[in-house]
Amino acid sequence: MTLLAEPTIPSRRFAAGSTRFDLGLSENPFPPLPSVIEAVRETLESANRYPEFLPEQLPRLIAEHLGMSPDEVVVGAGATGVALQVMRALGTGELVSATPTFDGYAVLADMAGMTLVPVPLDAAGNQDLPAMRRAVNRRTQLVVVCRPHNPTGTLLDAAAVRSFLSAVGRKIPVLLDEAYVEFLAPTARLDIHELLRKHPNLLILRTFSKAYGLAGLRIGYCLGRSPLIDRIRHQQLPFGVPTAAVAAVRASYAAEPELLDRVARITHERTRLRSALRATGIETPESHANFLYIPGPGTATTLRRAGIKAKPYPDGSVRIAIGTPTATRAVHTALTTPHHSEPPR
Ligand code: PMP
Repeated sequence: MTLLAEPTIPSRRFAAGSTRFDLGLSENPFPPLPSVIEAVRETLESANRYPEFLPEQLPRLIAEHLGMSPDEVVVGAGATGVALQVMRALGTGELVSATPTFDGYAVLADMAGMTLVPVPLDAAGNQDLPAMRRAVNRRTQLVVVCRPHNPTGTLLDAAAVRSFLSAVGRKIPVLLDEAYVEFLAPTARLDIHELLRKHPNLLILRTFSKAYGLAGLRIGYCLGRSPLIDRIRHQQLPFGVPTAAVAAVRASYAAEPELLDRVARITHERTRLRSALRATGIETPESHANFLYIPGPGTATTLRRAGIKAKPYPDGSVRIAIGTPTATRAVHTALTTPHHSEPPR
């Protein structure tokens, strides 16, 4: 297995700062494939024109790719945009989710006027499904379950998800966030067709930001049974999905083998970093996504001092995206060289 090709295009967010590696947002380290860039560039020539009033081409493309009907797909500005559409469609009430989780859920719940009911992870860093089930009550309007989870990268057992869905019943919508699904081994994936047949309240959230490496284009989608999806589509922003998004998705599907090769390189690099840390006594949960969760205390400070941007948590732990082999080496060196972890004198 070859490692990540280098160099990738550096992040421009910290051009003037001291950040050497920008690994804070669980992004894909690869720039878009040339074929995807070319497809997007072509759409720019008609950027004086509006895109479709309400998106039809993108849901059709995604539906065809997944063997679903277009009326079972709703699209939006990243999974974040679609999640907001979901919340706005469901009205104000309680949203049950794990904590910590993707930060967006707290922000969006606030925007949508929902009350977040955070349920702590269990001791192993997994979403505590029994506790989340107990947190569901008459005021609950949405339950969010991530698979894999952000920030730990842990994966809920498929059977546990199935029994959770049965226990919650058909009345309360459950959003299964699969933002990182493409990083899962095929055998670890859920059969979404079977689940959606069985659970009319189930919504599956996905994105082109992670495995497809198109975070800057803001393309996400949600799958579900058509009555529920109809309600969510009602929240669609007119002219809200650019023509470039359609072109990028079409070109990405056409280049799937190359993209899957990149996914394999990222997961390989993730395994390498985890093993290297482990060999020096630093334990991290087994991650099924494109990042690692490295426990604190002190980890966030150590990385920051080494010019490595990771997402910090209050106890000093971090979530760090998998980057190039050079980034892996820098992270490893920073965390295993005593000099970096000493407090300032
Ligand atoms: N869900 C999860 C679990 C995430 O980690 C993220 C991004 N960090 C998102 C949703 C949102 O992704 P986007 O809006 O870029 O599609």
